[in-house]
Amino acid sequence: MVVPYTHEPFTNFQDNSNRSEYDAALQLVKSELGKAYPLIIGGERVTTDEQIVSVNPADKSEVVGTVSKANQALAEQAMDEAQEAFKTWSAWDPEARANVLFRTAAIARRRKHEFSAWMTYEIGKTRKEADADSAEAIDFLEYYARQMVELKDGEAINSRWFEHNQYTYQPLGVGLTISPWNLPFAIMAGTTVGPMVAGNTILLKPASLTPVITYKFLEVLEEAGMPAGVVNFIPGSGREIGDYLVEHPKTRFVNFTGSKEVGIGIYEKAAKVQPGQNFLKKTAIEMGGKDTIIVDDDADLDLAAASIVQSAYGFSGQKCSACSRVVAHEDVYDKILEKVTKLTEDLSVGDPVDGNTYMGPVCEQSAYDKILNYIEIGKGEARLVTGGSGDNDKGYFIQPTVFADADPNARIMQEEIFGPVVAFTKAKDIQEMIDIANNTDYGLTGSIISNNRAHLEKARREFQVGNLYFNRGCTAAIVGYQPFGGFKLSGTDAKAGGPGYILHFMDPKTVCDQF
Ligand code: NAP
Repeated sequence: MVVPYTHEPFTNFQDNSNRSEYDAALQLVKSELGKAYPLIIGGERVTTDEQIVSVNPADKSEVVGTVSKANQALAEQAMDEAQEAFKTWSAWDPEARANVLFRTAAIARRRKHEFSAWMTYEIGKTRKEADADSAEAIDFLEYYARQMVELKDGEAINSRWFEHNQYTYQPLGVGLTISPWNLPFAIMAGTTVGPMVAGNTILLKPASLTPVITYKFLEVLEEAGMPAGVVNFIPGSGREIGDYLVEHPKTRFVNFTGSKEVGIGIYEKAAKVQPGQNFLKKTAIEMGGKDTIIVDDDADLDLAAASIVQSAYGFSGQKCSACSRVVAHEDVYDKILEKVTKLTEDLSVGDPVDGNTYMGPVCEQSAYDKILNYIEIGKGEARLVTGGSGDNDKGYFIQPTVFADADPNARIMQEEIFGPVVAFTKAKDIQEMIDIANNTDYGLTGSIISNNRAHLEKARREFQVGNLYFNRGCTAAIVGYQPFGGFKLSGTDAKAGGPGYILHFMDPKTVCDQF
């Protein structure tokens, strides 16, 4: 009997002992920077000449690690190993598979600050953001393991007196997990272990910016008893091995999280039945967002301002759920803009190793360039209120930026910037606010700050997002509490951390035994 699921608590960094423990973890990780990491294929370490160099975005001169890089031949080898491992892993008792996840969670929990510290160095997460990422990874392990235990005997189904009907789930085979850099532990781990605990074997291609944290996770899976070949670590170019494996005739499913452009391409390629392929590939494709907070005329404006700032600038706005649009009622527009501007100007931007930093760098040079380019576009489309500049001498730092009076159809109101930029627009009533909120290709998250119950209920019905929040920010969904995924071109709405998640990676089977 497994104890009921509760989420991993966040660390209170006001507590001095927690701060010291985190500082010690940063020291430990710093002493390990610059090491080399191999691929893991069928449990074997494979080193390649070509390497991915993982760099600290807060300090470009600091190498976090060098990681071997898979090519198509090695991807093929990983496919063979995963096929072989599937034969035994799929036959394991589901509870035994779940136990590997429970043990992984226990080890990760003991070493939580160390994992978080790796993310501070590898992708620039402040301790609060890194701690939330680690907690979410642990939650996915705990939650999906329980889901497998619950589903192991299938579902109850009717039988007549002369028959026994059975409805059970079976794993699919070898699947491809392609993960993003922005939640490099949580999403990477969740999108790997969900299908894995269901009995599938996995080819894991992490984002090229965050291979080291992924390798560290693979070590824990191995320590927890994962057999060789069940998860194969094959970082490499998205175009080279990502496309190759998406189109591979033996890939049974693709579990992708990343941008709209790449996700749509994968969806199309996975749909094509290749020569020698006798099944349709399943896909979970979770993509970007252009997420709106609505501020109603009777809203608590301090709550609204705090929610906007936290949702827009946490991890420098590099969250699919980040608030990048505010639609405020015309009666409170000036006041909420002023409050948000004030809070924004108080934020500290700097090295996330420093425990007092609120916002670290953005992830790399191309993201830095892209965000500053959007800021230039924004200057032509709206009124720059604060921020608007960057500094990439040492790392990729961009000031938190507010634009006012944006047209709802402006590019900065429509396109995912994925940086610390928020744009405001005003509307005359609740209908117009919801219409503007819905006026994007995306449908991931959204919030409404209001004390009007009828308006909240209207939003419940009409605000077209997969994750809608009332009177709070639009980020920080918790596994098992707010299952996560978006509508429209935000993806297939697989609802990570939700009750149906691992069903995406299994085939239901009906057996009728007539007496
Ligand atoms: P990305 O550029 O789309 O990359 C995501 C992953 O896809 C990476 O592992 C990348 O590898 C790989 N990839 C790139 N091109 C590929 C191809 N042609 N075939 C197969 N794989 C390919 O996205 P990102 O910049 O890492 O992440 C940010 C995006 O993810 C944002 O749009 C954000 O909104 C979205 N996101 C969505 C969710 C959600 O739950 N809906 C959660 C987090 C992030 P390389 O790194 O080697 O290029």
